[in-house]
Amino acid sequence: MPKILVIGGAGYIGSHVVKELLEGGYEAVVFDDMSSGQEVNLFKEAGFIKGNILDKKALDGAMSQNIDAVIHLAGKKAVGESMENPQKYAENNLNGVVNIVNSMVDNDVKHIVFSSSAAVYGMPQYLPLDEKHPLNPMSFYGYTKLATENLLAWYAKLKDFNYIALRYFNAVGYAADKSITGREKNPQNLLPIIMEAATGKRDGFAIFGSDYDTPDGTCLRDYIHVSDLASAHVAAIKRLMTDKKSYSLNLGTGKGISVKQIVDATENIIGKRLNYRYAARRPGDPAIVVAKSDLAQQILNWKPKYTNIEDIIQTVWNLEI
Ligand code: UDP
Repeated sequence: MPKILVIGGAGYIGSHVVKELLEGGYEAVVFDDMSSGQEVNLFKEAGFIKGNILDKKALDGAMSQNIDAVIHLAGKKAVGESMENPQKYAENNLNGVVNIVNSMVDNDVKHIVFSSSAAVYGMPQYLPLDEKHPLNPMSFYGYTKLATENLLAWYAKLKDFNYIALRYFNAVGYAADKSITGREKNPQNLLPIIMEAATGKRDGFAIFGSDYDTPDGTCLRDYIHVSDLASAHVAAIKRLMTDKKSYSLNLGTGKGISVKQIVDATENIIGKRLNYRYAARRPGDPAIVVAKSDLAQQILNWKPKYTNIEDIIQTVWNLEI
């Protein structure tokens, strides 16, 4: 039974990855500093080490427990904050990953799956975005993801080491069996913000921009269910352990859904109107971001199961009813 160290395994995506690993017959050990991870997201069947990725000794302690592969999801991820406080992102997302890969080399751990992002592409020059699209991040956050991919590519050349960088598009939803209940504190993303408005945790919300060149004037994004993202990580681990190569792969559905469609679908599901207003565009937001994920489907032998946005939103609302 391969043993996987899930760094950031108490977070939103990490906990879904741990669930898929356990269901796939893997052993999982979570390494998390609990800065944004939550205790309710920990599975009792998984090991747990409280530690920070800036602490190389703590990482060495974890890696030396016969770890077969690492999944690294412990990144800071607020795009706006990364522009105001790049130091924080350089320290966590860059110094942190240097510690992780050095600890892997020191402890003879040869495989890593890394949480990358569609933010590595920057403003789309064509759509859908495939992996050959130029890499030109528009935020410091996106830069840290790209820099990490480059670091991993060098280690793959220089060491007995391979990686898969998974470029997430918009992760949404919760496990359908309601086994993961931790909601993000202070959410920055659209659907968790809408849900806070739906449950009365906030008065309302804004739709950023209504004059984009899209069918309803609001932005289109590629929303992928978190359980589908998670199953891609398990497939990536499998691939890394049987293949010497490394890959950067898009994880999306290929379908563009507008902000207004998300709002309307949520209102239908919850059965009431939401309080929102149209506001100015958010700086740096492209009108459309949609993935071509054929490469991931082929390399990982994986396919997203959720294709309908209502079904995805329902998995979030299920936690509230
Ligand atoms: N958005 C919005 N209101 C909000 C938060 C987000 O209208 O309060 C829009 C945002 O402009 C974008 C889409 O929702 O078009 C998804 O934004 P999110 O921050 O969730 O993800 P991103 O695509 O920026 O990674």
